[in-house]
Amino acid sequence: MDPLQNITSVGLIGLGAMGLPMAINLAQKLPAHITLQVYDVFPAAANALCTKYPGKVHQAANPADLASKSSIILTMLPGGSDVHSVFVSGPNAISSVDLADKLLLDCSTIDTTNTLAVKAHISTHSPSASFYDAPVSGGSIGAERATLTFYLGCHASDPNLPLITAILRYVGNEKAFIPCGGPSMGCVAKTSNNYISGLLGIIVSEAMDMGIRGGIDPRLLAEVIKSGGGQNTVAERWNPVPGVVPTAPSSHGYKPGFKVGLMRKDIGLAVELARKGGCRNLFGQQAHDVFAKMEGMDEFRELDSKAVYRYLGGIEDWQKMFPDA
Ligand code: NAD
Repeated sequence: MDPLQNITSVGLIGLGAMGLPMAINLAQKLPAHITLQVYDVFPAAANALCTKYPGKVHQAANPADLASKSSIILTMLPGGSDVHSVFVSGPNAISSVDLADKLLLDCSTIDTTNTLAVKAHISTHSPSASFYDAPVSGGSIGAERATLTFYLGCHASDPNLPLITAILRYVGNEKAFIPCGGPSMGCVAKTSNNYISGLLGIIVSEAMDMGIRGGIDPRLLAEVIKSGGGQNTVAERWNPVPGVVPTAPSSHGYKPGFKVGLMRKDIGLAVELARKGGCRNLFGQQAHDVFAKMEGMDEFRELDSKAVYRYLGGIEDWQKMFPDA
């Protein structure tokens, strides 16, 4: 049986860089019998969706209104306090209505304290409702192309998994749903992963800068890194040096991409996770401070976090140094 057979409405709250393209994919691909409810504190994106997909997309008045009209509710919000506010403590919060048998999936990247607090509140308030953390990888391009990977806060044996994957396959890579082992483990997985990608942004920038100034063509250096022990996806696909990877944000003025402020937030989540676990975390605070400084500067705030290469003073017009460039 199709797990979505008895579902007539899905809701999505948070129509930003990630949520809006997810909503567009849902509007275009959800079966005819399922409508989409949307809500954002700023109504412009919801208005535009309703105009573009009349009859399919409906704008809810607030989170409670959306929850009362939807059997499955997705949220894609900036941080833990926003998620707590929308589900629990804010005006017209989701949990102010009857959530019996509803599926709630929070796709935001947040801390384990808030996700567990929201889950506990929902369980007490509506025992038959199911709340999961389900953060994503893939960025706004993955959201547009519906190729997101989901880190699910559940076990592989969770009975809701068929329903979860049935809805998320409209926004995600068919095979990329990773049950991470229980409540909040999606957040733990995502935080650990982003700690690596955040630090790689800094380390690759430093390595490329020292290599170029040492005299090597950055395209050649990128090839060397690819074939050596330093091999990593930031150097290969999102190289921070402009012009090395034509499709990377660095080659387009560091836009679009994963903004400096989001990386500051995620490294902060990692520092906190490490502190809670009693881990020795040697670079977390330093990396956090770098992104916090960049976020405080007008010229970096709106840029992809790999603009750390520019922040370090890396040579951007390196083509002048290599005559055959
Ligand atoms: P964003 O700031 O672009 O969008 C967030 C949206 O939520 C905004 O439209 C905002 O108006 C809305 N919002 C905030 N508070 C609200 C509230 N109380 N009620 C209703 N709407 C509210 O952020 P984003 O880039 O879409 O990121 C969302 C989440 O996804 C973050 O946790 C981020 O870390 C994570 N993420 C982002 C990327 C990326 O590349 N942007 C990649 C992976 C994960």
